[in-house]
Amino acid sequence: MTETAVPEDHPRYASLVTRHRIEAGVEKGITSKQGLIAQGRGEAFDYLLGERTLPSADAAARAAAATLLLAERPVISVNGNVAALAPSETVDLAAAVAADLEVNLFNHTDERVRRIADHLRQHGADEVKGLAGDGEIPGLDHARGVVDADGIEAADVVVVPLEDGDRAAALDAMGKTEIVIDLNPGSRSPRTADVPIIDNLIRAVPNVAAHARDLADATPEALRGIVDEFDAAAALDAAEAAIREGSFADADGS
Ligand code: ATP
Ligand code: MG
Repeated sequence: MTETAVPEDHPRYASLVTRHRIEAGVEKGITSKQGLIAQGRGEAFDYLLGERTLPSADAAARAAAATLLLAERPVISVNGNVAALAPSETVDLAAAVAADLEVNLFNHTDERVRRIADHLRQHGADEVKGLAGDGEIPGLDHARGVVDADGIEAADVVVVPLEDGDRAAALDAMGKTEIVIDLNPGSRSPRTADVPIIDNLIRAVPNVAAHARDLADATPEALRGIVDEFDAAAALDAAEAAIREGSFADADGS
């Protein structure tokens, strides 16, 4: 079944479309098979969260936008799932906050980096980093730690949707300010983040861009106020509470 073959009134329309995008990503060689497993885990949490953006996740998206607007060298890290699920939205976020895009893969192959970079260019990106591979994240084995010296290595703020826990910790140890988008509030990566956005990246990426446009004329002081007011631990707790309270029961009327 292709993406367009999913009837729009199907109660699980968004979830089915997402699945097809990931499948197509694997077929095009931009998403790894491991990416399918990550997708499955994400879907389970999205279901439990009611497949919606919680108010706490919206506040996190606003804090992320303010953090990115204050950054000197922001970089958005793109992996195979991000590229398959939200290529245009990711390119648009980079434009909204003047960030670089860098392909950064847990299961790195030059071939897949090139394919993802091409895919992003087809969706409007000018420059895509990640092909140089001349930098490193210290503390990880070589294949997992390859980054661009003038990209993630030099960045002050990194957006890492779906980052794995070890790499999130290693980036944190490098002193990066990390914005993590992840549906599982218990996962190590959002727990390491300065700004954890517990939301589906399909909703979160455009939401951060919308907040950034809304904040485009805000003063640095106002932006710093938004960042300081944000409480990462409270955002994680709010998502956990939503899961525990069973908000998913409202999602499709079941
Ligand atoms: P760790 O504790 O090391 O971070 P993990 O459980 O996060 O482990 P993975 O399976 O590699 O390990 O990570 C996949 C993560 O990505 C899961 O937490 C899942 O919820 C999240 N995820 C998958 N798809 C999406 C999506 N579309 N939007 C946001 N998060 C997603
Ligand atoms: Mg994780």
